[in-house]
Amino acid sequence: MTRMRQKRDEMLKTDYLICPRIKKRLDLLITESRNWTASWDGQKLFAVKQGTRVNTVDLETMSCSCRVFDLTGIPCEHAIAAIYDRRHQVIDYISDYYKRSKYLASYQHSLEAIKGEEFWEVHSTDELLPPDIPKKLRGRPKRLRRREDWEGGNRIQSSQDENHVVAQRKKTPKEAKRQKIQVRRAVKNVDKQKLPFVKNNDPTGGD
Ligand SMILES: [Zn+2]
Repeated sequence: MTRMRQKRDEMLKTDYLICPRIKKRLDLLITESRNWTASWDGQKLFAVKQGTRVNTVDLETMSCSCRVFDLTGIPCEHAIAAIYDRRHQVIDYISDYYKRSKYLASYQHSLEAIKGEEFWEVHSTDELLPPDIPKKLRGRPKRLRRREDWEGGNRIQSSQDENHVVAQRKKTPKEAKRQKIQVRRAVKNVDKQKLPFVKNNDPTGGD
């Protein structure tokens, strides 16, 4: 509220045609434009030169090949050189958004002063309760996506995982005994297969 009033009053006190910051920037650009020479082609475009550097300026569409004039709405140093070449006024080529009238228009309204909380009307409606906050679930959160039925439901994803689960399951005593027997038989078979192989290939007979 205060800011709106201050901004408006500050501008009303001055006689600026454009906003002060833009004026400052423009003064700098006018100084820099003295290093450029503009040549008019007699129709639309200006060739603005500095040594081997050349920019083209179109004052009708308010654009320059450096793109600064097009994007900011403030004439660049090349455009200013062209404007001065035609003996025009720089202010006529500045976007209206930087002018006093637009500035005052944006600060013409004020925020309305309102009464304090003690003046507010009290309505006899139900008390407004805060929303339910979901409880945090215990344990480690799931990291795998729940699969749809057409994707195979919630089956274990790979045969590797499946084997892992089987290995984790505790074996019954009968199963454990059977596994021991299987291991012994396998070891015996390996020894039987290796012995003749060792004898045949050892010319010293194993000594
Ligand atoms: Zn330019």
